[in-house]
Amino acid sequence: MYQTSRPRGDSPVSIIGAGIAGAWHALLFAEAGRAVTLHERSDAAMTESTSHWAGGMLAPWCEAESAEPAISRLGIRSLDLWRRHFPKTPFNGSLVVAHPRDRADFERFARMTSGHRRLDAQGIGELEPSLEGRFRDGLFYPGEGHVEPRRVLPQLHAAIERAGGAIRFGSEAEAGDLDGLVIDCRGLSARDRERGLRGVKGEMIIIETPEVELARPVRLIHPRWPLYVIPRGDGRFMLGATSIEAEDTGVSVRSALELLGAAYVVHPAFGEARIVEFGAGLRPAFPDNLPKIRIEPERITVNGLYRHGFLLAPALAELTLAYLARGEIDNEVMQCA
Ligand SMILES: Cc1cc2nc3c(=O)[nH]c(=O)nc-3n(C[C@H](O)[C@H](O)[C@H](O)COP(=O)(O)OP(=O)(O)OC[C@H]3O[C@@H](n4cnc5c(N)ncnc54)[C@H](O)[C@@H]3O)c2cc1C
Repeated sequence: MYQTSRPRGDSPVSIIGAGIAGAWHALLFAEAGRAVTLHERSDAAMTESTSHWAGGMLAPWCEAESAEPAISRLGIRSLDLWRRHFPKTPFNGSLVVAHPRDRADFERFARMTSGHRRLDAQGIGELEPSLEGRFRDGLFYPGEGHVEPRRVLPQLHAAIERAGGAIRFGSEAEAGDLDGLVIDCRGLSARDRERGLRGVKGEMIIIETPEVELARPVRLIHPRWPLYVIPRGDGRFMLGATSIEAEDTGVSVRSALELLGAAYVVHPAFGEARIVEFGAGLRPAFPDNLPKIRIEPERITVNGLYRHGFLLAPALAELTLAYLARGEIDNEVMQCA
């Protein structure tokens, strides 16, 4: 960290985009006593945001399998912020299991990650009774958590208003028309200014069955994608997620087969489940798949949260605030113009 010259710390703050990045920025800035207005072009249902489609896993140790160390560092910090601001967030850990044919990939996953304990068949059954007898080996990451994006976004928006911030839904904002400091959290829509920003398609399916109960996300080792089943309560489960270099939001038959097949491997009772929803979101990503906080005199842009928006947004908002309050720069994610 080092110090640099920066915008004044007392001007009003206009944040564009009420997805997970913009919402956490608005919350921390409002709590710090700044005059915050959060602009969102869609309505409170947030169906135009990538955040609407996310799994909401807070999994810094599992993600270390494929992500840079900065993701785990910031992710672990974010867990504290989720805990402090939303004490009811479930921190029941994550479970990783594998089909016997993917044993080598399972061992690789164990080697590439930390913060886990190995479980045998009995340990898996004790942790998740619905999975008793289904897998011989598992990895349990006790420190991880998960949120339900479609519940937690409205909770964040309510917390912003309680902290004194204003939210304007249906407000398609232009940075040049806004007062004070602008924080641009427009996700993929910021491609007009952010060179190299691209969308990475993630497909998901929601299913419903009373036959299976899970207390935590279960990841199934898969040669192409990290596939997972996340309990949503009331017998609903989200199956996610593909990762495809494409910018349409259709769900292909092949992806649906893979997602539903993974659920069936986790538990055959998912074969009888009712399909509630298919959908896809586009993850905003820079070429290195790392998030960036880009600082200009009147505007700070926070983008490229890729697969880790829920995991990283609290820590990124804290970094932006620390920069404005004390001039601190995090060299791994911040760039000054
Ligand atoms: C299938 C899937 C699963 C995922 N699972 C996880 C997971 O388990 N854990 C995790 O951490 N991450 C996950 N992600 C990634 C996460 O969803 C993204 O990183 C995150 O949603 C990006 O958030 P954002 O706030 O940058 O963008 P967005 O959520 O897209 O928000 C940007 C907002 O800006 C608004 N906007 C744009 N232009 C304007 C304008 N001019 N004026 C006003 N508003 C504007 C848009 O309407 C939008 O609401 C997943 C993503 C997908 C697709």
